[in-house]
Amino acid sequence: AKKEKEDAKIEGAVQIAIGVKKEVDFATWYTSVLTKADMIDYYNVSGCYILKPWSYSIWEIIQGWFDAHIKELGVQNAYFPMFVSAKVLEREKDHVEGFSPEVAWVTRAGSSDLEEPIAIRPTSETVMYPHYAKWIKSHRDLPLKLNQWNNVVRWEFKNPQPFLRTREFLWQEGHTAFLTKAEADKEVRDILDLYRRVYEELLAVPVIPGVKSEKEKFAGGLYTTTVEGFIPTSGRAIQAATSHCLGQNFSRPEMFDIVVEDPNDITGKGKIYVWQNSWGLSTRTIGVMVMTHGDNQGLVLPPRVASVQVVIVPCGVTANNRQEMNDKCEELASMLRKAGIKARADVRDGYTPGYKFNDWEQKGVPLRLELGPADLAKKQTLSVRRDTGVKAPLALGEIAKTVPQLLETIQADLFKRAKEAYDSRLKTITNWGEVVPALDSKCVVAMPWCEEEACEDDIKERSGRSSEPQDERAPSAGAKSLCIPFDQERFPPIEPGKTKCTACGKDAKRWTLFGRSY
Ligand code: AMP
Ligand code: ZN
Repeated sequence: AKKEKEDAKIEGAVQIAIGVKKEVDFATWYTSVLTKADMIDYYNVSGCYILKPWSYSIWEIIQGWFDAHIKELGVQNAYFPMFVSAKVLEREKDHVEGFSPEVAWVTRAGSSDLEEPIAIRPTSETVMYPHYAKWIKSHRDLPLKLNQWNNVVRWEFKNPQPFLRTREFLWQEGHTAFLTKAEADKEVRDILDLYRRVYEELLAVPVIPGVKSEKEKFAGGLYTTTVEGFIPTSGRAIQAATSHCLGQNFSRPEMFDIVVEDPNDITGKGKIYVWQNSWGLSTRTIGVMVMTHGDNQGLVLPPRVASVQVVIVPCGVTANNRQEMNDKCEELASMLRKAGIKARADVRDGYTPGYKFNDWEQKGVPLRLELGPADLAKKQTLSVRRDTGVKAPLALGEIAKTVPQLLETIQADLFKRAKEAYDSRLKTITNWGEVVPALDSKCVVAMPWCEEEACEDDIKERSGRSSEPQDERAPSAGAKSLCIPFDQERFPPIEPGKTKCTACGKDAKRWTLFGRSY
């Protein structure tokens, strides 16, 4: 297998720009795409990466979209400190148990040890809620809906991967408080739907919304909803974003004591501990997008998140016509920009068109327009799609209409292909004997499940014994529950008392997705 990998590298090096093939050595392919597309640079603290403009600009687009949508829901942005005292961090027992192995601590300032070590936030529930208790004094202070765009630190010990699992990452974390459970429940789902739309509508990545099992829910929360993604090349699922209902776990008196008088209690003595949610979407989004659409030429950007949607390359340039051709390309770019397209002319001197094609292909620009003297004479330009390589001449006079249409087609086609790949790898199974072979053939499994924790542990144990050798860099091979999809209708009906859990044979409750995951 090692020799095969070496061979693939050598063969890959002469055949393709990216060095190794996506299907042959996915882990190397991934990091090689990220560096060749100029998205990241490595850093000398393990698990930390530099986000260069080519990737950070994607985050800015996600931020802009999501920020506008949560503001429509009445959420306001704020900023809280990144440090949290041990005393406050440790107040919610389940919460701290879930996070403590990954918490980084500041123990020293200059040459002196701190009297009390200070933690760096792995998430901000404990940072924010003592203040929520102060600010929320009456039901009139509700709902309180705050969000922050920030960094968090989780000292993960699993193999780090740029974007997917890093020790410091960027995200938004929303923290809201309501008078009633019904309001909290509704918001959990409204936010989850925005997460689904970030993936599906911006990144062209399909996800499956659902609820986490008790074992997989957020530490200290009441229940966790998730959108689950899937990387066909590795056959691994990935938790794409999560929206948690914390219930009253953090507001109760022994915790942060966030309480108001009950406006419906005529005695005036009734109290309500507020209902809380927290929800987060991280830079993991970018990694999932790269893995989904990238190919052996490099990155493939969905037009809606590309900071350059169209690149115009002058072709057939000679010493005599260079200036004129460059000017025409600049003119075309500016025409497109006026039509709302992010267009750029690549008029760099000293590079061949072939070099430029390759360069922008590696960087994933969705559409290339080639412009040469012959095209100009015919009042047209040659368009080349990054995703399919399909070439088509476009009349220059109609460019302000045809290019936006073409970009939308590319966006839609990327999603369609990714959705087909996900759907074709989702196996509906009711017979345990088929589960491990399905996982081994890089699928996720939907099966009727009893929803018991012991059964989930057992599934993980039994599905870890794969017949196939595992990539040494791959995460654990046992299958976890990914989510219980909200859309149960896509599966055959569960008959109470009749349909059995595929894993243990007890009565099944709902169809649940299981898979090996990142
Ligand atoms: P959580 O608050 O733990 O549910 O995290 C919110 C979201 O952040 C998760 O659903 C993941 O998509 C993402 N996330 C969690 N850990 C990491 C990490 N180490 N690096 C990047 N993203 C992460
Ligand atoms: Zn079971």
